[in-house]
Amino acid sequence: MNIKERVDELTRILNDANYNYYVKDDPTITDQEYDKYLRELEELEQKYPEYSYPESPTKRVGGEVIDSFNKVSHVIPMMSLSDVFSEDEVVRFDEKIRKEGFTPKYVCELKIDGLSVSLLYEKGKLVRAATRGDGVVGEDITHNVKTIKSVPLTLNKEIDIEVRGEIYMSKKSLEKVNLERLKNGEKPLQNARNGAAGSIRQLDSKIAAKRGLDVWIYHLPNPLDYDIHTHYEALEFMKDLGFRVNPNNRLVNNINEVISFIDEMGEKRESLEYDIDGVVIKVNNIDMQTELGFTAKYPKWATAYKFPAEEVLTKLKDIIFTVGRTGQITPNAVLDPVIVMGSTISRATLHNENYVKEKDLKIGDIVSIRKAGDVIPEVVEAKKERRTGKEKDFEMITNCPICGSSLQKKDGQVDYYCLNMSCPTRKIESLIHYASRDAMNIDGLGEKIMEDFFNFGFITSIPDIYLLQSHREDLQRLEGYGEKSITNLIESIENSKKNSLEKLIFGLGIPHVGSKTAKILASQFHTMDNIINTKYEDLNNINDIGDIIAKSIVEFFKDEKNIGVINKLKDFGVNMDYLGQKVIHDENFSGKTFVITGTMDNYKREELKEIVENKGGKTSGSVSKKTDVVLVGKDPGSKYDKAVELGITIWDEEELIKHLN
Ligand code: NAD
Repeated sequence: MNIKERVDELTRILNDANYNYYVKDDPTITDQEYDKYLRELEELEQKYPEYSYPESPTKRVGGEVIDSFNKVSHVIPMMSLSDVFSEDEVVRFDEKIRKEGFTPKYVCELKIDGLSVSLLYEKGKLVRAATRGDGVVGEDITHNVKTIKSVPLTLNKEIDIEVRGEIYMSKKSLEKVNLERLKNGEKPLQNARNGAAGSIRQLDSKIAAKRGLDVWIYHLPNPLDYDIHTHYEALEFMKDLGFRVNPNNRLVNNINEVISFIDEMGEKRESLEYDIDGVVIKVNNIDMQTELGFTAKYPKWATAYKFPAEEVLTKLKDIIFTVGRTGQITPNAVLDPVIVMGSTISRATLHNENYVKEKDLKIGDIVSIRKAGDVIPEVVEAKKERRTGKEKDFEMITNCPICGSSLQKKDGQVDYYCLNMSCPTRKIESLIHYASRDAMNIDGLGEKIMEDFFNFGFITSIPDIYLLQSHREDLQRLEGYGEKSITNLIESIENSKKNSLEKLIFGLGIPHVGSKTAKILASQFHTMDNIINTKYEDLNNINDIGDIIAKSIVEFFKDEKNIGVINKLKDFGVNMDYLGQKVIHDENFSGKTFVITGTMDNYKREELKEIVENKGGKTSGSVSKKTDVVLVGKDPGSKYDKAVELGITIWDEEELIKHLN
């Protein structure tokens, strides 16, 4: 597809999505998909201005007006907001404004997930309410808005004024409406935003009245008319008039405080009674706002930070197979790249044949992706309702994709293995793993180079890495290896000898031992010899080391070949001791699971985690019945409420210090 065709395709997708979202209040794609397509189109238009058309969805406010409503013209257009998806982008937003010569203060607000409304009052009486529509012309929804109890029909002053805000449906109201709809055999509303939009755009106001809608007011379009010169004052002014203004709004001095607000609200989000999809950041000073101005679609003095989506849709383009260092065959999803929680995901493990079959994944499916434990991307499910019939069934392979030998299953296990010990991929994979960043971190021994060195016969086993310097002359003859890069490589190999024990343990590739378990082993047992001599029972007694891992560790060190490798490494001077903070068990912490919430005066979160772990405890991100203690600082999030609800022990900072002493 050429550039013009892609631009046309994206325009069509976005226009269709706008129609379904704004007119029918029934979206057919997710907001994340919409945002991804919009970004792609913006980038193409920037790179190829010849395909940037004035009617493009990147330049227009998305809504449309339905004929059945009376039309309302907005004298001051109702605009959209530019959006940013990472803290880096928030910082860049600030840099751009500073480059214009301003030193702004900002107002941070919650980005309420509803639909915007303009309310017009004459002599303090509500005379008209309108939707944003296409930004210039909206729909008259006065009859419905009058049913919303938090919209004042009369103000505290007999004033002529227009204010703007967001109409929304609370989480509770959505739940109630959906229960009722299900009872009546109707389709449940997709989410609170569409629930609010669908309710407010009903011709019969009795329906809107039953939907439990609410409003937050956040904008005064013409503050100077009231001699108001900052946005924050405008919020206070509107509050005094009797409008419902969100209590979380905060005036901050700089962009760092904006980022703290974002972090704080990210934690608080769950416990709010309504949905928010981000934080809106607005320049406080009105003169500055005026000088910064607008694009055709949004103000340049404000932006919306959108919280990372926890679950995102994308296309499963293919399923490919890899051979791990233990010979295990893993099917992997090849995905249309997509951003999940801030990072781009294009691959995800599908573990084994059963996993793919249980999820009934087909190549070509639209699948939802999330980050399990916020780190590892996981394919959650196939969106079967979006199948076109062109998807291909998944077929498990029967032979190793590298050496061709037939694959076998081990007793009782679901995984297939290539049992050919000299399968080149198995060996190369284990060498690459040894040198990788989380293991021995040998700079310059990446995948491609390791493959070359393996094929040339320079490195065919782990100890060979420490003999590489004897191939110095051979290396110099290779294309692409200068004197300097060889010296650097040998130096980083030498440096790796000084690593702390956990890196070596992880690097050895003991089945089922990841970097976290390696750290636990090293910090608990302190030396390689201690670990080699540890019995199954001692291992199995440790928090986080279960039966399978304990067995695997014992098996590994029983194998003479592995001990031989370790002895050779010892001879080459590779460090066998743990250099970090050793775990010294403390009965107040040992074996207990801690959850941290809020901010403490004396400890940063990372410090606290380390303290707990160094005393034999464990930290977790969420409160459950398994939590032993919740450490509560200032402004705690919903975790505190959950702890109280479950009756879990709570330590504030004072209590914590007492236990530490
Ligand atoms: P937006 O929702 O990204 O931001 C602008 C809107 O934020 C304002 O109009 C206002 O209604 C709202 N808002 C909430 N709290 C606010 C506050 N405190 N201050 C100011 N404004 C606040 O932009 P948009 O143009 O309304 O909608 C575009 C977005 O809607 C897309 O990014 C996408 O996420 C979603 N969308 C989805 C689909 C779909 O098919 N899923 C289609 C169209 C749009």
